[in-house]
Parts: sequence; C-alpha cells; structure tokens
Amino acid sequence: MKKSVAVIGAGLAGLRCALLLKEAGIDVHVYEREHHVGGRMKTEKVDGFLLDYGFHVMQTAYPTSQRTFDFEKLGAQAFEPGAIIVQKKKKKAKFWRMADPFRRPIQGALSGMNRFASPLDLLRVARLRFAVTKGKTDQVFEGGNKDALSYLKQQGFSQSIIQRFFHPLFSGIFLEDDLRTNERMFRFVFRMMSKGNMVLPRGGIVAAPNQLAQRLGEDRIHLNSDVSIIDDITLDINGQTKSFDAIVRAFNANQINEKRHVWTLHFDAEHSPLKSRHVLLNGDVKINDGLIAHLAVPSDVQPEYAPVGRSLVTITVVGGRADSLGLTEAPEIEEAVRKEAKVWFPNTSLNWRLLAIQHIEHALPEVGSERPLLATPQVQDFECGDHMLHGSVEGALLSAEAVANAVVVHLQV
Ligand SMILES: Cc1cc2nc3c(=O)[nH]c(=O)nc-3n(C[C@H](O)[C@H](O)[C@H](O)COP(=O)(O)OP(=O)(O)OC[C@H]3O[C@@H](n4cnc5c(N)ncnc54)[C@H](O)[C@@H]3O)c2cc1C
Repeated sequence: MKKSVAVIGAGLAGLRCALLLKEAGIDVHVYEREHHVGGRMKTEKVDGFLLDYGFHVMQTAYPTSQRTFDFEKLGAQAFEPGAIIVQKKKKKAKFWRMADPFRRPIQGALSGMNRFASPLDLLRVARLRFAVTKGKTDQVFEGGNKDALSYLKQQGFSQSIIQRFFHPLFSGIFLEDDLRTNERMFRFVFRMMSKGNMVLPRGGIVAAPNQLAQRLGEDRIHLNSDVSIIDDITLDINGQTKSFDAIVRAFNANQINEKRHVWTLHFDAEHSPLKSRHVLLNGDVKINDGLIAHLAVPSDVQPEYAPVGRSLVTITVVGGRADSLGLTEAPEIEEAVRKEAKVWFPNTSLNWRLLAIQHIEHALPEVGSERPLLATPQVQDFECGDHMLHGSVEGALLSAEAVANAVVVHLQV
C-alpha cells in the first residue's frame, strides 16, 4: 500500500515538497487554510490590473527555480539588466542609467562615475562581481558572516555608492532599512542578479505557484482547511482527526514575530513614467528624508499587468524606512510617496490613481549575522519554508527539497 503524507501549507515550499513526494510514489495531500495556493506569492485583480502582493519577481539564475519552473510556459518576460537612478539636485530630478551593474559592472558603474562612484568604487564593483560569480553557488555561503553593510564597508566601497546604489537596491530586496542582512545572502543575491534575469510571469506572480499546483493536481490540494497538529502522524482537519505515515509543516509558526515589513503602492497611470524596462532606484532614499526605495512599471515588462492603454506603476517603501520617518498610516505614506514622485515626474504623477496600498507585515524572515547562514538547510522535524534557510523563492524551494528527501528516506519508499 502507498505511504501517505500530509503537507500543511500550500505556499511554494509546501507545493514543491508535495510534488517531489508525489513523484516518489507517495499518496500526498496538501492542506491550506486560505482559499488560494501560493502563500505570500499571490496576485489580486483590480479594475483589470494585476496587483502582486508586494513587488515580486523571479530570478532565472536561481538553481532550484530552474529545475522547478518552466519559465517558457510561464511566459516570463525580463526587466532590463541594470537600473535607472534618480537623485534630487536643486529640487529637480536627475536620472541616469546604470548600464548593467551586475553583468557588466564596469560599464555599468562607469555610467555612475562623477555622480556617485569613484574610480576605486568601480574597481571594487568589478572585484566583487568576480569574487561572487566564480565557482559554485555554495561558495558564497563560506567566509564572513557579518551584515551586508559591514561587508560593503570592508570591501572599501565609498559611503556615496553604498547610499545611492547598494542601499536602495538591497533594502528593497531584503525589506529592511539598515542592510543588516547576512553578507552571505547579499553575495548570493548579487551572484544571481549577475548571472540571470529578473522576470515576471504572464498572469501575475501567482502563476508560479499555480504551475506547481497544476502539476500536483487539484484533488491533492485541500483549501480552506484549518489544520492543527495532534502528534507526528495525526492531524485535526476542520474538526476531523486523520492519520498519515508522516506530516510535513510547510509554514512558519513564528511568522507573527518576523519584523520585516513593506508598503507597496500600486497606481493606474495614463503612460509609463519610464522610457525603458528598468527598475528606478531612489538614490536619495537614505539621504534627504527619502522614502521610496524603488519604482517599477510591471506593465512595461508584462503588458497583461494593465488594461490596454494604461500602465501599472508599483512603488516600494521599506517598512523600517517609513518607521524611521514616523510614517505608520496608509494615508500619510501615500501623501509622502506622491510628494516624492511629483519631483521625479512633475507633469504626470499628479494624475496617478491609487489602485491599492498594501501593508505587508511579517514579510520575510530575519536573516541577520546572529547565526551562520548555510548554503543548504538543516532538516528539523520535517519543517520547510523560507524561514528554514533564507527569505526568497530559492530559500523556500531548497528547504522543501531537503525535507522531501528526508521524508522519502524516513518512509523507505
Ligand atoms: C512583499 C514580498 C516580496 C517578495 N519578493 C520576492 C522576490 O522578488 N524574489 C524572491 O525570491 N522572493 C521574494 N519574496 C519571498 C518569497 O515570496 C517567499 O520566500 C516565499 O513565497 C515563501 O514561501 P513559503 O512556502 O516558505 O511560505 P508561505 O508563502 O508563507 O506559505 C505558507 C503557507 O502555509 C499556510 N499555513 C500557515 N499555517 C497553516 C495552518 N495551520 N494550516 C494550513 N495552512 C497554513 C499559509 O496560509 C501559506 O499559504 C517576497 C516576499 C514578500 C512578502
């Protein structure tokens, strides 16, 4: 008889783990308390716009994503490598393009020269890129275990390039305002951005977990299931007791304690404010009372994100940054965002219509320098999810794979 396994949680980790167990010949069932799969990777439809839960992208270079997703079937479209940086000069906005700070860092940083990067900074960017892209991915998890800011300072980067480039980019990725994230995570993300593309699937970010759910089969996923664990093999599901050969917990029971939070504002715009498919980084975010970390126009990359003739503008405000400026309520965040965007786009931003303002609390697990960040997760009690490794699609998938392997060994299938 087939062994049976229950997976609690239909986020990316739960779905990936369940798929691997199914492929191993196990009778697997996923229980999810929400009415949808995908967990934090979700998309809402508002007035014909696709609004992801936060600014959410997939990285084509993530090794586990490559073996998990069919990017072609997802219709994935890429942002331009590099970024546009905006900075206020005498109350006016100045924009310039970092050609490609990741794959062509020297040319990329050259475009920032005389503005915020010294020739020595350029050499250091080149050296950093060489160091993080050589060898195997696991190597970036070796060596120092400090926070990202100390690491950048140790590498000799100037205050200017840290504040104007590294800070807006990485605070918007790590969803924290101090660059306190473990330097190993910084090296990992820098490597991935250097090697691959940042893409959006057709149909919103939820298309990624939906692809896994489809492969798993609807009959194996039980939505609206409020589950509590009785013991290692028994669950209470909506008041009914059910036993399995093993139970996998694919959720973070301590999520409520995770401090990283983010405000995401989605606007309906008549035209895209950007001339290219780049992400716009706010070079003033750590200076001059800046608030916005970055701005993107998902509909420039994936037209399905907006109705024909409209553009979707998505703005990210890191929660810790808003807190430090004393902004804690949606109306004041919107007002401050509009004020900042008005300097950048004085003629058009006034007409932007707010579609949604999302305050995403407990967004990512803390991955600081308080404990060594490893390349692979350590399996404990068949628990998986990004909190078991690091807060990213890759962290969630890797931890799911490790737990699926451990369950297969445990059940001797
Ligand atoms: C705003 C934001 C932006 C992000 N951007 C990126 C990005 O650009 N790139 C990137 O790589 N990563 C990004 N991430 C991180 C990425 O989304 C997560 O790492 C990943 O989705 C985590 O998946 P998970 O399965 O571990 O957890 P979750 O998605 O949290 O899934 C856990 C699931 O378990 C369910 N559950 C919990 N308790 C129970 C219970 N008792 N019974 C039944 N079900 C239960 C929950 O409802 C949920 O569906 C972002 C995250 C956020 C929040």
